[in-house]
Amino acid sequence: MIRPSEAADVVVVGGGAIGLASAVEVVARGRSVLVLDRFGMSNDRGGSAGLERQWRIQYAQEHWSRLVLDTVPLWRRLEAAAGRPLVHPTGSLWLGRRPDGAGVLDEMHAGAEVLTSLDVPFETMSAAEIGTRFGLAALPRDYQGLHQADGGVIDVKGTLDTLIHLALGAGVRIHEYEPALAIEPDGTGVTVRTERADYRCDSVIVTSGPFTNDLLSPLGCALDLRVFEQSSAYFTRHTHDTDYPTWYAFGALTDGGACYGYGHNPWTGSDLIRVAPDAARELPDAEHATAVPDAGRIRDTADWVRTHLPGLSPQPVRRGTCLAVLPLDRERQFFLGPLPARVPNGERVVVQAAGWAFGFAPMFGRICADLALDGTSAHHAPQLELP
Ligand SMILES: Cc1cc2nc3c(=O)[nH]c(=O)nc-3n(C[C@H](O)[C@H](O)[C@H](O)COP(=O)(O)OP(=O)(O)OC[C@H]3O[C@@H](n4cnc5c(N)ncnc54)[C@H](O)[C@@H]3O)c2cc1C
Repeated sequence: MIRPSEAADVVVVGGGAIGLASAVEVVARGRSVLVLDRFGMSNDRGGSAGLERQWRIQYAQEHWSRLVLDTVPLWRRLEAAAGRPLVHPTGSLWLGRRPDGAGVLDEMHAGAEVLTSLDVPFETMSAAEIGTRFGLAALPRDYQGLHQADGGVIDVKGTLDTLIHLALGAGVRIHEYEPALAIEPDGTGVTVRTERADYRCDSVIVTSGPFTNDLLSPLGCALDLRVFEQSSAYFTRHTHDTDYPTWYAFGALTDGGACYGYGHNPWTGSDLIRVAPDAARELPDAEHATAVPDAGRIRDTADWVRTHLPGLSPQPVRRGTCLAVLPLDRERQFFLGPLPARVPNGERVVVQAAGWAFGFAPMFGRICADLALDGTSAHHAPQLELP
């Protein structure tokens, strides 16, 4: 039987935030794009699940803060298309203390230095000031805070909807529930195989999140990725007067792990507030996801809420899980680039995988498109490259 065969200039494998942002960038340059997704659009099976993500300018490394600032105009352009804010400036608060009790927490110190060198305004504060300003209670006296007022919360579904709208409006074809099974680069292009058809393209952008290595392993270049199942919970706020900034508390939980949370989502009007442990169950791969929240860590988080967030009812009302992908090497944050030179014709396969990438989605989409169409990108930092 002859298999159906179709063509596009670029095939994007994975219609999460980065894949959709890539498709929008490619089609804007007059090239045809096909997006394949294993599940439906805005699915909760990958990394772009859920309602909200933190957006912040402070990083411990200056290059990431610079990249965030470079991404701001791209967010504003998306927001203009959406006709409403997608990144809501609720403020971003880091808090914590050094485990040895001496001096300022390393991350906070580095973040403050980076903000200073980039001339971005911020405030540092004591535990008492955090309480007075933001209503967090009973913090240990040696806690310190770093608050950056432009940081905030990203509307995940709003962003995905906007990208889908822009993509479809510009003629991007989106095939849902059609997983790519194999990617085969050669001297003149790439064949992407699915159960339904073979797709021929000049280059492919792989943004399949936790499933990335399913496609890269057969090419002999699996990335050193770790897949985690993160748990989180929602808590009800007592009154409409209570609100918190987007926050991240280093070393807050009993096992020394961090937890983080939000104020009320400005776009929902809901009184449910998400708080989550920044610790997760590591999985052998995405297929082993259980979708069962980690009861112990949720309990720990609820204890933190009870003690420090008096504006919330300490009983979690909704629990969930989500898959995160991080590089094995903790010094790295992301992988973004063409396949390494050892893979024949690997320059035709551009991959974005791993990291806390939602805040960078429009920029990573631009870089993926640059690399797929031109082989180079002015924004492609060496720290992003695939090993
Ligand atoms: C709990 C949690 C908290 C986070 N917090 C933050 C945060 O505060 N700030 C931040 O910036 N980032 C954060 N992140 C990270 C951010 O959400 C992700 O980096 C981002 O959403 C990843 O988007 P993506 O498009 O790369 O991948 P995904 O959203 O995972 O999309 C991959 C897509 O590929 C599809 N797919 C998989 N295999 C195939 C295949 N073979 N063929 C076709 N399609 C396929 C899947 O169906 C999926 O739709 C967080 C992530 C998690 C899980």
